[in-house]
Amino acid sequence: MRKFVCNDCGHKFEGMDCEYQATAFSAPVKCPECGSWHTYPSSGWFGGLKKSIYKEIWKSMDEHQDNTEK
Ligand SMILES: [Zn+2]
Repeated sequence: MRKFVCNDCGHKFEGMDCEYQATAFSAPVKCPECGSWHTYPSSGWFGGLKKSIYKEIWKSMDEHQDNTEK
């Protein structure tokens, strides 16, 4: 388990720590508060870099969701 923060509502929660598509990053976990996938681990070795990295991950997740829903 790992602590995550929701970028949309700021909710902090614990979620499963899974690798995101064979990268060193944890896959975003759905926020239990607002249902957003725009979450990221609240601690980690990559510090200030993670926001920009996770923005790219969220973008690709959003695109993937659009494709599956249409
Ligand atoms: Zn949230």
